[in-house]
Amino acid sequence: MIKYISLIFISLVIISCQDTIPEFNKEEAFTFLEEQCNLGPRYPGSDEIVLCRNYIISALNQYGASVEEQYFSVIINDTEFEGVNIIAKFYPRMSRRILLGAHYDTRPWADKEEDISLHDTPIIGANDAASGVAVLLELASIISKKQPEQFGIDLVFFDLEDMGTYQKNETWCLGSEHFAKNYTGEKPEKAIIVDMIGDKDLEINMEYSSYHNSPALVNEIWETGKNLGFSEFKQRIGNKIYDDHYPLIKIGINAIDIIDFDYPYWHTLADTPDKCSSQSLYIVGQTLLKIIYSD
Ligand SMILES: [Zn+2]
Repeated sequence: MIKYISLIFISLVIISCQDTIPEFNKEEAFTFLEEQCNLGPRYPGSDEIVLCRNYIISALNQYGASVEEQYFSVIINDTEFEGVNIIAKFYPRMSRRILLGAHYDTRPWADKEEDISLHDTPIIGANDAASGVAVLLELASIISKKQPEQFGIDLVFFDLEDMGTYQKNETWCLGSEHFAKNYTGEKPEKAIIVDMIGDKDLEINMEYSSYHNSPALVNEIWETGKNLGFSEFKQRIGNKIYDDHYPLIKIGINAIDIIDFDYPYWHTLADTPDKCSSQSLYIVGQTLLKIIYSD
């Protein structure tokens, strides 16, 4: 009898623990991805990136975040571009903070197309931009409804990540570079960037610089994903990828990147919503919810 009672007790404890983690709505997240793509290519200097910025800000306002637009300008190939990072804070009085980031600009050039005549055509960027933003907007919706016990949450939507020249790291991630250089105040306890996580065929290696600088945070996330039954989090160290986590690492933030860089449509016109799946957004989103809402 005691055995049964203790079994019931343990089950109740498990159920109540699970109950504290909200469920990521993958359909809603996928709608966020599609709605960005419906705006068209969203590259710096285009009207569509302004529409996308307004789309993100109006969603964040609707979820009750305090939203700041961080303006900056950069010169790329002798042309000046205005960039705007969007910074949204939830529960600003909480001293322990998690920062979640994604870039929202898309690449103006499909320069990984085999056909060279297409290299100047801008991409839709369903996976490379929209997927990360979609996960963050769905998290914003959830966080607005239920305050995490331990953490306040900062969401940062970076501009000008994707106008770089291959092999020149310093030409990429200009929004996060500006954000990091102007960072003041307490640093977040954990910073997690999501990029290219919508791929239908999702496989996420431990990005090399993330693991090198923040092995504990990488292990926490990959273990959490594994414990949720997501075999897409691969327990192996992958390549070094220069992404928006890197400028954060440089200023001493505990920052990592969740990215599936093995995507055949990267920087091509075929990076469209049909190559992505709501389940992939769910896998990353639910894992992040577990990190955000754990005690
Ligand atoms: Zn890109």
